[in-house]
Amino acid sequence: MLENALTQKPLSLEVLDLEAGVNKYFNSAAEFLKLNDSSKILLSTAEKEIKVSFPVTMDDGSTSIFTGYRVQHSSARGPYKGGIRYHPSVTMEETKALASLMTWKCSLVDIPYGGAKGGVICHPATMSVCELERVTRQYTDSIMAFIGPKKDIPAPDVGTNELVMSWFLDEYNRQSGCHHPAVVTGKPISIGGSLGRLEATGYGVAKIALAMLAENNISPSHATVAIQGFGKVGSWTAARLAQAGCRIVAVSDITGGYYKPDGVSIEKAMKYVNASPQGTLSGYYEKGLTKISNDALLGLEVTLLIPAAMENQITEQNARSVKANFVIEAANGPVTPAADLVLEQKGIQVVPDILANAGGVVVSYYEWTQNLSGLSLSHKEVINRMDQKMLQSLNTILKVKKETGLSLRQAAYVIAMGKVADAAMLRGWNS
Ligand code: GLU
Repeated sequence: MLENALTQKPLSLEVLDLEAGVNKYFNSAAEFLKLNDSSKILLSTAEKEIKVSFPVTMDDGSTSIFTGYRVQHSSARGPYKGGIRYHPSVTMEETKALASLMTWKCSLVDIPYGGAKGGVICHPATMSVCELERVTRQYTDSIMAFIGPKKDIPAPDVGTNELVMSWFLDEYNRQSGCHHPAVVTGKPISIGGSLGRLEATGYGVAKIALAMLAENNISPSHATVAIQGFGKVGSWTAARLAQAGCRIVAVSDITGGYYKPDGVSIEKAMKYVNASPQGTLSGYYEKGLTKISNDALLGLEVTLLIPAAMENQITEQNARSVKANFVIEAANGPVTPAADLVLEQKGIQVVPDILANAGGVVVSYYEWTQNLSGLSLSHKEVINRMDQKMLQSLNTILKVKKETGLSLRQAAYVIAMGKVADAAMLRGWNS
């Protein structure tokens, strides 16, 4: 039986929001940089948009046709780089917006990559490990010609993990007949992954959050934190901030919010999630903890609000009830453009995704260089280098913000796009 139901769906408003946001920030930075029309078109157009469909045998013997994408946005500063997302809401438009975010992110934190993103429309939670492996191998085969260690290097994103990267690597090596560990990052340590990659994004978010507190003379022990999302990013962010002395008053996942004014024990919560068959917080309890809704979590009076789940979580409506001093975008695009404006009017500083969650791709870069050189870095070296890069990038943004009066996000886009425009010009792509 052939099924293609997953691919038949209308374009959601959320996707339009993500695209609109990326376009809006792009246009205002382009204006600030006085980019001419041809540069604007060059930098806003993806170099390649790949759409593939492939059959996969399901465990019950039926065949399903899956749709996947890989968008290569820019190679001006180096090979394409970016994650692969497995989620039912993946679309070409979303993938395009996320690919351009990768270009700006890599440029902002000064790693020699362009930007890309991939995705497969699927529901990993409802699929068996064997089905996920077959989807990954078929997807790898379908985009094989466009990928390579010096061409385009995928990594994990929402719905994918180091196991998916192992299958990707294995299939690539099988097809190419050579061992190429640098074709994908976020691999398990035993097959060329880097120490520190798993926790890198969360640790990077925490580094930036702590630096924002320091910049505003707030000691971590006086800071309260609410984190939306307790997956790879949210949980490691929480762990690092708790370690630094912050009080994590609320965390959440798809099963709801968990609130404890005295501070949730992150160590216990992480252990609970790791032991839970669904990998969620469902049923988690400690003394003094109450369940709250997602919207209630976003409206808590905290120092730091950290959306670490999906895009478009803080909207024009719920932004009005945000009472945090700072919003740190750990997810990609969690604040809609209209919400961004509301937060700005309320005097809430938003640290943009292209800085806040860049720790993941920074450590991907260290993984790639270790694979290419055959040398390995210790956990401490990896995290120290990543911390330094994150701080340098934040300081550059703060300097531009002070000099120009731009918001943190506008400053970040101006810096990132300026470097990509320069690279494109030096290569003779535009004048
Ligand atoms: N998916 C992550 C991101 O959005 C990591 C990408 C990578 O390591 O290439 O930044």
